[in-house]
Amino acid sequence: MSLQVIKDAIAQKKMICPECKNPIQKCDKYAETIDSVWEGFGDSKIDSRGSRITLICANGNCAWQERTEFWAEYIKE
Ligand SMILES: [Zn+2]
Repeated sequence: MSLQVIKDAIAQKKMICPECKNPIQKCDKYAETIDSVWEGFGDSKIDSRGSRITLICANGNCAWQERTEFWAEYIKE
């Protein structure tokens, strides 16, 4: 489930803010998006495209936040 992946990434500090490069602290308003038609055999991004969330940096003075379907791009291993 995508929300759990996001929460785990935040908890493990793997979700990185593109502005200040610190771990993103919060997420909000998770929603499944309905994308019923696709042909993506072998496309590992399918899971990430099926959900949308607001990511909130919340580090210090950083005001970065973004509502995105491409949250997986902010996860750094
Ligand atoms: Zn930030």
